[in-house]
Amino acid sequence: MCGIVGYIGGADATPILLDGLRRLEYRGYDSSGLAVADEESWGVRKSVGRIQELTRAVVEEPLSGRRGISHTRWATHGAVTRENAHPHLDQSGRLALVHNGVIENYQHLRRQMPDHVFESETDSEVLVHRIGWHLVQLGEVTSETLVEAVRRALREAQGTYGIAVIHQDVPDLLLGARRGSPLILGVGEGENLLASDVSALVNHTRDVVYLNDFEVVLAGSEGFRIESLVGAGTGYEIRTVDGDVEEVSRGDYPHFMLKEIHEQAATVRDAIRGRLSIEEATANLGGLNMSLGQLREIERVVLIGCGSAYHAALIGEYIFEKLACLPVEAEVASEFRYRNTPMGKDTLTFVISQSGETADTLAALRESQRKGHRTLGICNNVASTIARESDGGVYMHAGTEVGVAATKSFTSQVTILTLIALLMGRIRHMSSSEGLRILRELEQLPEKVERVLAMNAHLPEVAAKYAPSPGMLFMGRQFQYPVALEAALKLKEVSYMFCSGHPAAELKHGVIALISPELPSVFIAPHDALFEKNAGNIQEVRARRGPVIAVGTEGGDALMSLADDILWVPDAPDYLLPVLTVIPLQLLAYHIAVARGCDVDKPRNLAKSVTVE
Ligand code: GLU
Repeated sequence: MCGIVGYIGGADATPILLDGLRRLEYRGYDSSGLAVADEESWGVRKSVGRIQELTRAVVEEPLSGRRGISHTRWATHGAVTRENAHPHLDQSGRLALVHNGVIENYQHLRRQMPDHVFESETDSEVLVHRIGWHLVQLGEVTSETLVEAVRRALREAQGTYGIAVIHQDVPDLLLGARRGSPLILGVGEGENLLASDVSALVNHTRDVVYLNDFEVVLAGSEGFRIESLVGAGTGYEIRTVDGDVEEVSRGDYPHFMLKEIHEQAATVRDAIRGRLSIEEATANLGGLNMSLGQLREIERVVLIGCGSAYHAALIGEYIFEKLACLPVEAEVASEFRYRNTPMGKDTLTFVISQSGETADTLAALRESQRKGHRTLGICNNVASTIARESDGGVYMHAGTEVGVAATKSFTSQVTILTLIALLMGRIRHMSSSEGLRILRELEQLPEKVERVLAMNAHLPEVAAKYAPSPGMLFMGRQFQYPVALEAALKLKEVSYMFCSGHPAAELKHGVIALISPELPSVFIAPHDALFEKNAGNIQEVRARRGPVIAVGTEGGDALMSLADDILWVPDAPDYLLPVLTVIPLQLLAYHIAVARGCDVDKPRNLAKSVTVE
């Protein structure tokens, strides 16, 4: 996680760095800091809390200079304190570094420098000390020795890093390097920048170089060089970032999360747009980069994700089984990457990540490719590492998601998995009339999403009623089981209530021990073949005086006598219902969190893009 911004050029670095950090705040926001240097001056400011605290610190004690580095932190090693905030300095106090990632052998490296005094508990600080240590061994401080010291230190480091470095005595040099954590060079006129994400660069330049692992960039105000950890580089490509990179605003909504929940009719439409072929009664997904013949040879599909993307994968498992009759497994990325999952030669892997930078998902992609499997991505961020490294895939086109709790990206992922399953079904057993029926249902989905939003005007009152509860249980069957998991995740993320999701029938195998008048249960109980089974489970909860909230579909009036409160969604085929049933539960999570006074868009301890393992 964490955001890095670096600048070198003719302008004052401080406002540029602060503006960049604000744009990267979604990557981490527990503390932040910057180091800015000029020929004569040098200063470091740090603060705990949001970027506005750092801005305040800079206003109180200004600093300016034409090169600098900055960081917004998501702590991995060491508490959230001013001392642990980046930048960190070396023993000389003249070399500053910001770091994204984890240096796994930091304790070992620390022991190599017994006479060094460390100010923080972080793994990152050891890296700057190690660079400083090598610099001393190399004698003089010049741009050449600094680069060599950085190379030597990085060759010793195990783990992941994206770093930016400046030295007080090396005036025209901003150094960057990456391994596992994203870092992008922004190529400007008379200036160059470094950032973890293009959003921090586009105000200055649209020309960027995506650095590769083990590359080192040496940027001056008038030019740059890209080398490797051992010597010369292997070449690079300057790409132009296009598209609107407007400042994403909340509009009239009090929070991004609410805005993004309300955007879902449009984002589901955008996930489908241009991808339905009525003529061929199938989905057109050219980005998969696979011929129909190659797709037909696929015998098994593995869907990989973390958090909400994993829940989307679980729903995908049900959808693929239903529409394509294919064996599918959903896997948590962090488990997949270290397991030795037997994968036949006809296995197709999809990695799912909104940001396209999720560290575990990226590692799973690489592991799958290492084993020779074609691996495709489902991402929102088209400029991300997963988008670049996967063998093809499908973009969500959901627009920037700012709220840390995923909402619109989740429904886009499920919609895209439905399209892929439809395509896979059509090249196997599915008739064109069946394909056409599914297309018609998909076409109606955005309008149904709109209706869900209109049908639940009573949600704030329901939320207020349950906001004081100590926790909440979520239950569903089949397609709705992963929705229960996702709804529990949403509520715990934003309200800090203890929540868990379960297959409804598992209730009697343990969860029922928790039922009491204080603990509400949410049943996702569409009016389908399993309605009576769900109704039986609801009765079991009521018999123990547990409050019940139900999510029902139109026509499921029998719920009225069963549940204390009901959230409604339009009816739809079972494989499309998750996109609808999750929405009132996102809203429930949102309104409960607001009622509890929580910071909905930036919940404690979380970050939007999880770039550490
Ligand atoms: N591991 C470093 C720390 O805990 C960097 C974390 C980050 O990527 O923000 O400070």
